[in-house]
Amino acid sequence: GSATRETDIVVIGGGPGGYPAAFDAADKGFKVIMVNDDVAPGGVCLNRGCIPSKALLHVAKLINETRESAAWGVTFEPPKIDIDQLREFKNKVVTQLTGGIGQLAGARNVEIVKGFGRFKDSHTVEVSKQDGTTETIGFKYAIVATGSSPAIPPVFDLDDPRIMDSTGALELADIPKKLLVVGGGYIGLEMGSVYAALGSEVTVVEMTDGLLPGADRDLVRPLQKRLTESFAAIHLNTKVEKLTPDPSGIIADLSGEGVEPKQTFDRVLISIGRRPNNKGLGLENTKLELDERGFIKNDSNQRTAEPHIYAIGDIAGEPMLAHKATREAKVAVDTIAGEPAEFDNIAIPAVVFTDPELAWCGVTEKEAKDQGLEVEITRFPWAASGRAQTLARTEGLTKMIFDKKTGRVLGVGIVGPGAGELIAEGVIAVEMAAVAGDVAESIHAHPTLSETIMEAAESFHGQATHMY
Ligand code: FAD
Repeated sequence: GSATRETDIVVIGGGPGGYPAAFDAADKGFKVIMVNDDVAPGGVCLNRGCIPSKALLHVAKLINETRESAAWGVTFEPPKIDIDQLREFKNKVVTQLTGGIGQLAGARNVEIVKGFGRFKDSHTVEVSKQDGTTETIGFKYAIVATGSSPAIPPVFDLDDPRIMDSTGALELADIPKKLLVVGGGYIGLEMGSVYAALGSEVTVVEMTDGLLPGADRDLVRPLQKRLTESFAAIHLNTKVEKLTPDPSGIIADLSGEGVEPKQTFDRVLISIGRRPNNKGLGLENTKLELDERGFIKNDSNQRTAEPHIYAIGDIAGEPMLAHKATREAKVAVDTIAGEPAEFDNIAIPAVVFTDPELAWCGVTEKEAKDQGLEVEITRFPWAASGRAQTLARTEGLTKMIFDKKTGRVLGVGIVGPGAGELIAEGVIAVEMAAVAGDVAESIHAHPTLSETIMEAAESFHGQATHMY
């Protein structure tokens, strides 16, 4: 049967867009129902994205460091990997966090209705539950936070379990002897790094002429150098034409200059991008519109074509990142509450959690050029950083982009261990309209990698202490 009830706000989706929206709205006194069809709240990020991948990358880094320490006289036995125990560690991290979300929801009286939500009309969501029943929920406001899913071209069928998307790769079924990673974006490189550390021979195939398309080449270079050592092969300008399952493995047809055209792998990870979850949402029963890439159109308040319906997170556009989703959640809820709010952020950090890490925010060198901005760019190589020397990680680079006239910090890019943590200073500098002197004259603790940001700022119209 179908019951109808009313709520102030219905949130569709329980990821890093949806759950902060639901929590914030409840904290502001709204009655909130969060509709979520996933195994647990937390969305892709907690269940099969950011969190499990970072748990495994931590282990990968540890393994690599035990190997590298041989260079300064400390050797360990080769690692013995109990894959079941490793999987259990990763799963426990996930359940700990998703369980926490459930508790926080309960404490706030956010009701989670488990099922798939679709708009029946502009004021009603129908939820289909697993037991076959449906429930309709009338709402004053709706927030769509349905997220995204791996894009898999139909020529690659996932019926063979050896052909995986990121979800499959995170399941850690085994450690394949030979792994093919299709796509040299951040997800492919992160998961490839995990498997390489665990002992797989990893081959990455990327269609464009560089890893991490879109990222600054100065930042990519040290990573690419290191991955060239830890991966079996990186094929750029190369296409995977076909994947054929065979008892001996998955046979890949590759087309690229100087690339062996037929290669066999034990497993294949397809990581070529993600698609917004816009199917089956009943958008046709509303005035909501999709753009040419399938994102729900929205304005700087996250409002859709229906002013009482909002879209946030991966479904609302690029960049598809958890922290962007969460910020948009706050903007949507503040707007509903009648508070001044706008997504006017100029620095959304992007982090690639490989080793070394890449992180950047604000304007990149290429964007500055494309936009015709008059900029001065400074680079502080980590070889000149005491802290980097103590870590034996001198391949890093801190790069800053300033407005040439005013010295305002427009962008920051960092490659090196810990770049993902360091970029927070760049985000604050860009958002607070700091000028070079603000950063250069703030005392940074010694010896830390954060000093590289201070010295990159000193280099604006001047000379950094540890460079000449
Ligand atoms: P999602 O997290 O996709 O959540 C949407 C939820 O809504 C899902 O649980 C879905 O099942 C549910 N849902 C969808 N449709 C409906 C419906 N109609 N009814 C009910 N429920 C529905 N981002 C980072 O910022 N940092 C990282 O390190 C990072 N690492 C990643 C690693 C991997 C392997 C992957 C795949 C992604 C990673 N991401 C990372 C991206 C990040 O996971 C997403 O940007 C983020 O999860 C988007 O949040 P969201 O709330 O928009 O949607």
